[in-house]
Amino acid sequence: GKEVVRLPSWLKTSIPQGKNYSKIRDDLRGLQLHTVCEEARCPNIGECWGGSNKAAATATIMLMGDTCTRGCRFCSVKTSRRPPPLDPHEPEHTAEALSRWGLGYVVLTSVDRDDLADGGARHFAETVARIKKKAPQILVEALTGDFMGDLACVQHVARSGLDVYAHNVETVEALTPFVRDRRATFRQSLAVLRKAKESKEGLVTKTSIMLGLGETEEQVLAALKELRAVDVDVVTFGQYMRPTKRHMKVDRYITPEEFESWRVKALDMGFMYVASGPLVRSSYKAGEAFIENVLK
Ligand code: SF4
Ligand code: SF4
Repeated sequence: GKEVVRLPSWLKTSIPQGKNYSKIRDDLRGLQLHTVCEEARCPNIGECWGGSNKAAATATIMLMGDTCTRGCRFCSVKTSRRPPPLDPHEPEHTAEALSRWGLGYVVLTSVDRDDLADGGARHFAETVARIKKKAPQILVEALTGDFMGDLACVQHVARSGLDVYAHNVETVEALTPFVRDRRATFRQSLAVLRKAKESKEGLVTKTSIMLGLGETEEQVLAALKELRAVDVDVVTFGQYMRPTKRHMKVDRYITPEEFESWRVKALDMGFMYVASGPLVRSSYKAGEAFIENVLK
C-alpha cells in the first residue's frame, strides 16, 4: 500500500520572511556562492539570514565541490571516489563575494575529500585567511570533516584565523558504524575536536548530534561527557530527517520538550551554549549565539 508519511506538527515549517532575509537573498544573486541554506532548502533560512541584528546574519557556504568521497547513511550529497579537482580560485572568489554580501557570520563547510593528500585542509585554511583579510568583520566558523585522523590538517585549519572550529560527531558512539561512513569513528572525531582546541588559544569548538536515530538517553549522556572531556564548548541537537527512502529510517520523532531537556542537561554539564530543537542544524543562528555568548 501507499506509505503515508505523517510529520509531527512541530516539524511543519512556515515560509521564510523578514526584511533582512529578502535583502540578503537579493544580494546573493550574481555572487555565485553555493549556500547550503538555499540548496538544502533549510527551514531556518528566515531566522538565520533575517534576524533583527544584521551583524548576526548567518549563512553556510559549501566549498570544494558538490561530490563527496564518502557515503554516510543520513546524507544526500552525491558520492564519487574521484570528484573533480578543486577550483584554485575558490578561496579568493569566496572572500570577494562574502565581502560584498554583508553577512555577520559565515559557516564554511565542505564535502569530505579523501582523494586529496591533505583532505583539502590548505584550501580550507586559505579561504579563511582570505576572508579575514578582505572582510575582517565577518566571524568565520569552519565545519570540517575528520581529515582521516590527520591531526596536522586539523591544526592547519584551526590556525588559519577562524573563530569557531566545528566538527560533527553526528551520533552516539554505538550507532556511528551504522550512521556514518565506515571511515569515520567516534574516537577519531573526538581526536579532531581535541586537536582543534589545543591548536589555538581561545578557539571555540563545536559539535552536533542528530537525535531520532535510535540512540538511548544513556548513550547521549556518555557522548556529552566525552565531548566535555576534550573541552568542546558548544553542542547542538536536531532531529534526524530522512532525505530519501534509500537513507536510514527515522527511529523516532523527538518532542520539543525532550529537545529542551537536552539543552538544559548539556548546559548543566558545562557547555558554553547549546542549540537544541527539532529543526536545529549545527549552523542554526550561529552568529547570534556567538555574539551573545562569546563576545558578550
Ligand atoms: Fe543556513 Fe545553517 Fe541557518 Fe540552515 S541552519 S539557514 S543551513 S545557516
Ligand atoms: Fe555527507 Fe559529510 Fe558524510 Fe560526505 S562526509 S556523505 S558530505 S555527511
